Amino acid sequence: MAAVNLSMSNQSKAATRIICWNCQEIVCQFGNCSSCHKLLPQPQEIDPFTLLGVEPSIDVDFETLEKNYLKLIHQFHPDQFITKSQTEKTIAQSYSAQINNAYKALKCPFSSSKLLFSMVFGQALDDIPDPAPVLLEIFELNEKRMYLTSIIQAQNFVHEIETKIDTAVGEYDAAITQKDQLKAAHFLKTFLYLFKLHQDVQQNLLNPSFDQAT
Ligand SMILES: [Zn+2]
Repeated sequence: MAAVNLSMSNQSKAATRIICWNCQEIVCQFGNCSSCHKLLPQPQEIDPFTLLGVEPSIDVDFETLEKNYLKLIHQFHPDQFITKSQTEKTIAQSYSAQINNAYKALKCPFSSSKLLFSMVFGQALDDIPDPAPVLLEIFELNEKRMYLTSIIQAQNFVHEIETKIDTAVGEYDAAITQKDQLKAAHFLKTFLYLFKLHQDVQQNLLNPSFDQAT
């Protein structure tokens, strides 16, 4: 019974009962008070995935993220609160800051995947040592990378990394669902290394250090 279901805990956070600062009614929604319609403070503990309405995953749906972010940031923009009370202006400002921070955390796969890991397991990924199989795989890929001598070889290598990234993403999401911390750490660390390697090799393709003749 100690296992925490992510989606359930999100629902209970969303339904937190609070007392409206204006009419003193006890309401269990955030956004606007269901009784007096004044803006209510956002629960600070709400996680970025819930706040921005995207599925928790490494592979965040950027289209939904972008769409929901723009909608929310418009909704709480200071221009919408010019005629409102100072309390509501202050609450709207804190909403905006929270929405911006959540967006920043989710638009980068590095931070969003680490965030998801710590939300599910209550431990930071960086506190877990790199598993030996991950180190071996990365060592082998780095070796291989050193012997790339043509653009074609580099392109094939990029393709190989992309396939491995897809596998790591799928395995990580499965491990999150299964609440398997060791497996999740393994595939998330693999993913982060692969992602970095992919960026580096792509960069090198744009500015190749090897002979262009194939
Ligand atoms: Zn109220």
